[in-house]
Amino acid sequence: MSAHHELPIPPETSGDREAVVSWVSRYLGDLASGDPAAAPTRGGQSAADAALDSFDVTGYARRRNSVLPVQRRGASRLSAYIRHGLLTLPRVYEHVQGGPADDVEKFRDELLWQEYARHLYARLGTATRKSLRFAAREEHPPFTNPWDTDAACLQESWRELVDHGYLTNQARMWLASHWTVREGWGWRDGEDLFFRHLLDGSRAANRSGWQWTVGALTGKQYGFSRWQVRKRAPELCGRCPLSESCPIEDWPAEHPLEPRSMVDPRMRRDEDVEATAGPREPHIEGDAAAVWLTAESLGSEDPALVANPDLPAVFVFDEPLLRRLRLAYPRLVFLVETIAEIASARELRVFRGGVTETLGEVGPLAVTFAPVPGWRRLSKDLECTRVYPWPWLRRPHGGSITSFTAWSRSRGSRR
Ligand SMILES: Cc1cc2nc3c(=O)[nH]c(=O)nc-3n(C[C@H](O)[C@H](O)[C@H](O)COP(=O)(O)OP(=O)(O)OC[C@H]3O[C@@H](n4cnc5c(N)ncnc54)[C@H](O)[C@@H]3O)c2cc1C
Repeated sequence: MSAHHELPIPPETSGDREAVVSWVSRYLGDLASGDPAAAPTRGGQSAADAALDSFDVTGYARRRNSVLPVQRRGASRLSAYIRHGLLTLPRVYEHVQGGPADDVEKFRDELLWQEYARHLYARLGTATRKSLRFAAREEHPPFTNPWDTDAACLQESWRELVDHGYLTNQARMWLASHWTVREGWGWRDGEDLFFRHLLDGSRAANRSGWQWTVGALTGKQYGFSRWQVRKRAPELCGRCPLSESCPIEDWPAEHPLEPRSMVDPRMRRDEDVEATAGPREPHIEGDAAAVWLTAESLGSEDPALVANPDLPAVFVFDEPLLRRLRLAYPRLVFLVETIAEIASARELRVFRGGVTETLGEVGPLAVTFAPVPGWRRLSKDLECTRVYPWPWLRRPHGGSITSFTAWSRSRGSRR
């Protein structure tokens, strides 16, 4: 394939999803991993809006950690839409207004965890690939996939990750803990495997979730044993072929983690918080030829899209990045369904290639700031004449982010 080229607009998703799977196979298949398939969660703004409209927060606090039966789950399953900006955190936060106080508080607290993860990543960037405060094992690849066993709790969670691109928070902690705390494999490979499959996979929340579970953030490891399965998904032990010889009957051995001798000083203080948080107001330097859409912000409320209704939009499948990541088909299908719906509402051009080479030929760009290192790196080499603020739930502050509690205490202004 040439260095970059324009792709046909993918088919609209309201009907048969096979057409989208075929489009992905044809134009991105060499960059994908696994079987050509879609996950049950559809991409696109209308699917996101429908999921939010039908989410009722009642019972969330009590049932958030339930894994099985599925009908008992209290989790919203909104994460893929939140991840790609189809639902902004402020919008989801407002949506639950008026629900039972305990449920609203618990749910909003989880949205703040998401915001905390985003702040960590915005401030530290790729440094989050290393254990931040305690020396949890990072590099030590497994010989075989430790989740692909006969134990139903691990096997069914692994299958759900692959087939649905989703896991409850509880099951994520089970798999991450089993990988590193019990089996001793380095957490980074596990994180990469999650990232490949999760429709909501983000370096911000995935890394903070792994770091938290394996003790790299707090020094305390989350232990996973049969106890949680009996409590959160009791039916699993009933159908598990290893029920009589359960490999996770007992808690994993505790291995106290050493504090890292050199903690990144940016954990305590951000000397350039304005750069971390991005512009407060639109930064307009001139005309733009197109709105550059990034995977961080694919919603119809994307500030750059809204402010420039007459400009065409442009999306680039970043070929070198995708070649490295080898995302699973369902992730790509979700993204393609999302951009197909954008194309049904306004002019959109879709490319595959290197982002800077491709967009360099499009002309000056309007774009929404994204608090991720990839955006900073790419935008430096592009002519971004109109940059719009990121829709924070809490604007980043310059104080400590060493823990969620420290982050919450440090003074921060609401939006
Ligand atoms: C090892 C591990 C890896 C994770 N990887 C990711 C990831 O790649 N992307 C991701 O968005 N979340 C990740 N999480 C956080 C959390 O598990 C998911 O956000 C949540 O399970 C998504 O399902 P939901 O939308 O049904 O959640 P709900 O319980 O309905 O929560 C609503 C929203 O709050 C946010 N949220 C909830 N719990 C957390 C949390 N612990 N940390 C951060 N945000 C949270 C999410 O945006 C979520 O959509 C990870 C957690 C762990 C332990």
